[in-house]
Amino acid sequence: MTLSQTQSEFAQDVAELIQYIDHSGYSCTFGDTYRDPRSHGEIGSQIAYGARESLHKRRLAVDLNLFKDGQFLRHTEAHRPFGDFWKGLHPDNRWGGDFSNPDGNHYERTP
Ligand SMILES: [Zn+2]
Repeated sequence: MTLSQTQSEFAQDVAELIQYIDHSGYSCTFGDTYRDPRSHGEIGSQIAYGARESLHKRRLAVDLNLFKDGQFLRHTEAHRPFGDFWKGLHPDNRWGGDFSNPDGNHYERTP
């Protein structure tokens, strides 16, 4: 599978995730999606915030801002049901809430 095919599958899964969030009575907005290497450094280097090897630089990660009744939910635990849903969509999907330094609004696909 090419990187482009993986990116396309990732985008489809993000669409499903957003639908699931909406159907669950929540809403979301985009945080970081693609991080342009011209602003954030090539893969393996770092100019601004974010991890050197971040999958945002490969168009394989998205940060979603979660809301319920208009209230912003900033804590990782609020994302847990959506992280579980996300991981169920594809075996290569990872949720940031499982990281050693939890990042609950981060959803990614490992290439
Ligand atoms: Zn992220």
